[in-house]
Amino acid sequence: MGVFPISPGQSIGILGGGQLGRMLCLAAARLGLDAVILTPNRNSPASRVARRTIVAAYDDPDALKRLAKLCKVVTFEFENVPATATEILNGLGAEVAPSPRALAVAQDRLEEKTFLNGAGLPTVKFARVDSEAELKTALRRLGAPLLLKTRRGGYDGKGQIWVQRASEAADALTALGRIPCIAEAPADFQREVAMIAARGRDGEIALYPLTESYHENGVLRRAVGPAAASRKIVAEAERIAATLLTALNYVGVLGVEMFERDDGALLVNEFAPRVHNTGHWTLDGCTVDQFEQHIRAIAGWPLGPTAATHRVEMTNLLGDEADAWPRLAREPETRLWLYGKGGARPGRKMGHVNRLSALRK
Ligand code: AMP
Repeated sequence: MGVFPISPGQSIGILGGGQLGRMLCLAAARLGLDAVILTPNRNSPASRVARRTIVAAYDDPDALKRLAKLCKVVTFEFENVPATATEILNGLGAEVAPSPRALAVAQDRLEEKTFLNGAGLPTVKFARVDSEAELKTALRRLGAPLLLKTRRGGYDGKGQIWVQRASEAADALTALGRIPCIAEAPADFQREVAMIAARGRDGEIALYPLTESYHENGVLRRAVGPAAASRKIVAEAERIAATLLTALNYVGVLGVEMFERDDGALLVNEFAPRVHNTGHWTLDGCTVDQFEQHIRAIAGWPLGPTAATHRVEMTNLLGDEADAWPRLAREPETRLWLYGKGGARPGRKMGHVNRLSALRK
């Protein structure tokens, strides 16, 4: 623990150069820390604001050596980082946070749900599906329909398909590429909520107000924080987040996505071992936002206050929606965040707007 806290003037490493990395760099810079990015892409959103960028594959040993030389602590901004990268970094004496274990659990939906249940946290019923026969058995045991998801690599609703009956089993597996899957019972939720949670190196925990999230075609569209929710629901979400942080011996910020059922019960859908899109509202709605909180946590600094100062409605700008920036920049009580991405492919996250209002009593 001798290297902590990381002092102003020192560097932190980030695997990944997307918008989350970019906002982490901005937060690090505000605290006087330099960010070094490792990304395979030239001109990534993060490299435009980072102190330094290493352009290489994530598992390139020479690149990792350079990163470890510059940075005593390395984090990541997406969860499909190859395990070899974190192993190499650890071997070079660079501390990876959150831990490779948290990353490994979150990378596989089956391990993730098994881990959650093992920690006493509720999820939908699910089954391992490696074959057509297993999918048919799952349909018999759990009932229809089931949501078939690839265990690895899926994001933003990609890699998942509803299966209504046994006769669709073969086509569904083929559509997902015949790779290991998980079949999930429908969550039957009235809304989706998320909790952004942080844990420091000393085990201190800081939880943000609950967020309400709205997805379209599996992609987050809007998030509102703090969510209107009963004290009971907030307390349950806090219990879930704190249990998860402790069970993983976690360091950094984590996003937990949950379903709220009609009866008020919460089910965990998944967690992301990183800063999360449902927490972008904290940039303008909380004393210390999720990006600064993550930097503080991994750098061994004290965690900052998470209280909301405003109610914020965050809307993602997808594809050419970001072209409306001249109009959005004129809106009152609105902060515009653009990610510095070149091409606006349909559905690509190009930025977001945070619309601020007074906190509701
Ligand atoms: P995921 O990739 O698991 O985050 O899923 C993306 C979105 O699909 C979620 O935010 C939900 O809107 C929906 N979804 C995922 N799992 C389920 C489920 N078991 N039942 C109903 N809807 C789901």
